[in-house]
Amino acid sequence: MPNTKERICIIGGGPAGLSAAMYLEKKGYENYVIYEKLNKVGGKCWSPKIKVKHNGVEQELSFETGAIMGAITYHAVSEMEEFGGYYHVGPNWKPGEPNMRREFRKTTGEVEHPFEPKVDFSFKKLKGLLKLKKQMKKLNKLMQTKYVGYDCYGHLGVASGKYKGISKGVEGYCGSTKENSFPNYIEGENPNLKDLALPFSEFCKLNKIEEVQRIWIAPFTSFGYGFFDEISAAHVMKYLDVTTALEFVHMGLWTWPEGTQQIYEHVNAKLKHPAVLETEVVKVERPDGKVRVTIKDAKGKQKVEEFDKLIVTTPLDYFKDYADATEEEKELFSKIRHERYIDYIATFEEGKSPTISGYLVENMVPERLGHAMVYYNRWEHLGADCPHTVYALANHEGSDDVSYDFAQQTMDEDMKKVGFPIKEKLFPQEVYYFPHVSCKDYQEGWYDKLEALQGTKNTFYAGEIVGFGDMEDTCAASKDLIHRFF
Ligand SMILES: Cc1cc2nc3c(=O)[nH]c(=O)nc-3n(C[C@H](O)[C@H](O)[C@H](O)COP(=O)(O)OP(=O)(O)OC[C@H]3O[C@@H](n4cnc5c(N)ncnc54)[C@H](O)[C@@H]3O)c2cc1C
Repeated sequence: MPNTKERICIIGGGPAGLSAAMYLEKKGYENYVIYEKLNKVGGKCWSPKIKVKHNGVEQELSFETGAIMGAITYHAVSEMEEFGGYYHVGPNWKPGEPNMRREFRKTTGEVEHPFEPKVDFSFKKLKGLLKLKKQMKKLNKLMQTKYVGYDCYGHLGVASGKYKGISKGVEGYCGSTKENSFPNYIEGENPNLKDLALPFSEFCKLNKIEEVQRIWIAPFTSFGYGFFDEISAAHVMKYLDVTTALEFVHMGLWTWPEGTQQIYEHVNAKLKHPAVLETEVVKVERPDGKVRVTIKDAKGKQKVEEFDKLIVTTPLDYFKDYADATEEEKELFSKIRHERYIDYIATFEEGKSPTISGYLVENMVPERLGHAMVYYNRWEHLGADCPHTVYALANHEGSDDVSYDFAQQTMDEDMKKVGFPIKEKLFPQEVYYFPHVSCKDYQEGWYDKLEALQGTKNTFYAGEIVGFGDMEDTCAASKDLIHRFF
């Protein structure tokens, strides 16, 4: 019988921490505390309001510096929406709602139509598109046959050819049905799944489907998740499973009019114990079956609190430095790497803003680190007066990193070259993004070693590292954790 009276500490008030609290409450646990070091919840879902002027009218609208979109496969996020009473719009956007329409541009500014056979027609292009279509079909089939079991949350067993977790699927995938697609635990053996530890580019080569990278690259690399020669196929395919990837292709995406941060503000407001803000966990000691947590408030005042259990949703490579980490924890957590994702919101010289989001595919290669890969148009009705978020990556395994300053300057120059000269930059930031491990560590069973640690020293691990660095995978990881261990 679970002891619902236990006192539980949750570190971090992002999607993972708040969903952990929500799922704890749903199971009858009410004695928990969430510590959040910032003065807001939502973590990397940060949606500041900006005053904008269009046709002489001034209005204040939400913009995104972090998470933007979801899709039909966002089951756990849907549960957060339901709990908080705050919902997405899309995919059938009405005028005046934020939307996800986009175009492709060369770095010189010229608009491209890589996926429209009739525009700039040539037989070479047509042949290329037919090949792509064939390989997309092949990939879809492979994932449902050769790689059956790939689309469950997390990475349990994959390195040894097994799968175990909540199915990510919608109807027709992994045996789930429309009525009961979540949670639908699936478990089995499939030795082919070991291929998922390969870098995605090698996985595609192995299966003779290299062309599909043309589709996957925009919602993967330009969204800050790294390059296909360094990131495992499991990370790529579990996030952009075939259903989700097709939603990107067909624009079947969700957005939130007041911003993704509001999903978590609403959940926090409904929790029995909203997050304790401006309170950083600076030390964790776990002697004698108890967890002692030292917290520091905004004035720098420190205090020690005692708990029965600890849920860590924050970066584990930092946790090992402020906790009494065991040798095993230190060894495991020091292998975590992350992407350095850089973005800012730009306003443009009068009337010179883009009027639709744009992908700059030429910049989505490691040789172009620090270059703008994508810019996001949130409010189409603002026409050429709309501020945009601009994004770049600053690191790649096997290349030298570029500096934050270099990326900022290069992104400005890129936008000017494309035809959109920047006037002012708001909220520039570098984000600790998408923690994961190398393909080699993946192959050597890193995720199963993490699983083996769950619960030791009364400590549980949730958040981005468990599955993937997006809202859905983090919230689903919390659901899975609470379901299995509490
Ligand atoms: C630019 C950008 C675009 C993105 N786009 C999308 C998207 O379109 N769709 C999508 O699904 N996802 C997107 N994401 C990813 C998504 O935002 C993250 O995966 C998600 O926020 C992870 O949630 P988390 O709770 O695990 O971590 P975080 O969001 O990082 O939250 C962790 C929280 O812990 C707090 N914290 C850290 N250390 C301590 C400490 N010692 N004590 C107390 N508190 C602490 C932090 O302040 C933070 O609030 C995007 C992210 C970024 C940055």
